[in-house]
Amino acid sequence: APTPTDAELARADAHSARNYHPLPVVLETASGAWARGVDGIDYLDMLAGYSALNFGHRHPRLVGAVERQLGRLTLTSRAFQHSVFADFCEAVSGLCGKDAVLPMNTGAEAVETALKLARRWGYDVKGVEPDRAEIITFDGNFHGRTIAIVGFSTDPDAHDGFGPYPPGFRTVPYGDIAAVAAAVTANTVAILLEPIQGEAGVLVPPDGFLAAVRALCDEHGILMLADEIQSGLGRTGETFACDHEQVVPDVYILGKALGGGILPVSVVAADWSVMGVIGPGQHGSTFGGNPLACVVGTEVVRMLESGEFQRRSRELGEYMHSLLAALPVAAVAQVRGRGLWAGVELAAGQPSARIICERLLARRVLAKDAHEGTIRLAPPLVIERGEIAWAVEQLADSLREE
Ligand code: PLP
Repeated sequence: APTPTDAELARADAHSARNYHPLPVVLETASGAWARGVDGIDYLDMLAGYSALNFGHRHPRLVGAVERQLGRLTLTSRAFQHSVFADFCEAVSGLCGKDAVLPMNTGAEAVETALKLARRWGYDVKGVEPDRAEIITFDGNFHGRTIAIVGFSTDPDAHDGFGPYPPGFRTVPYGDIAAVAAAVTANTVAILLEPIQGEAGVLVPPDGFLAAVRALCDEHGILMLADEIQSGLGRTGETFACDHEQVVPDVYILGKALGGGILPVSVVAADWSVMGVIGPGQHGSTFGGNPLACVVGTEVVRMLESGEFQRRSRELGEYMHSLLAALPVAAVAQVRGRGLWAGVELAAGQPSARIICERLLARRVLAKDAHEGTIRLAPPLVIERGEIAWAVEQLADSLREE
């Protein structure tokens, strides 16, 4: 007879599009850093929903906030204001040090919002000729799955076969400030970047790159758009990955952990000099800024205020990286990352990252490959030292398996 896991996987496979290739586990319940499968096995979650679960599964403060709001009001659309909207906008814009936020739901929607905002700013404020705006993006980028976004993706799986794509994007090598400078024209309105590239395999740009982009933007009157959807909200040991270089972008793009692992919640945050270009009817979303999203997002900001999660990420991240540095040298080409975030790139001749992740699963550790050769680790920031040590031990053993 098939196992409960096999039976569930087969049923899902029969009626769901094949746009993912999940690891063979079916999760049923979870708490903190642990999730239990229909097989009755407890797994340590070392992926945390690609940083959507920074606070772990079902954090009591976040669940409590949503439960209280469920008994009050769940949706108004933006046709009517609701009583927890102001709290959310004030809290998130405060966290970002910006005047205002524009709430959306998913990460891709927030990125699209930032692109629209930048183009509109280019026409209305910078004075670019209609339909001539250019936005600079980077090789290896990942910003979501909409047509515009995959149009400038350099990953063939993400990009190929969905054209025609919107024009107006120029893509340059990540971390190469000379290439960025060479791509700037009078029509450049924005530079869109991940301060650390997540999907590309946790690529950290060279020291000084973010500050150099900031300086270039200041020099040419260009907006710096920081996609902190995966890197932000404590993941790297600071509130934002840009903080490591004391860089303040013109626009923050946030998602994932902003919804506390409960709901899709995203925003674009900017000062009025930029946000002011969008007027009624020019952009929006039925669910953006809904009451449930607002209470969970507000609570996330409150939780980040003490700095405790950022500190955990910094200190436990140093510990995790010290253990990863001691992995068998023959198996590992490079370990990259910051805070509780790591890309472990396997050496040539090693099994694929997928196979290592399958071995980890058999050892009760959930992790995910990023492309062929990199294992991505991004545990919830509530993880304990001993759990990190155990997970890295499982990884070391997985690399030694024949
Ligand atoms: N931007 C970055 C940096 C991401 O890592 C992701 C998701 O992995 C997205 C955007 C897209 O977010 P979503 O899947 O919520 O659309």
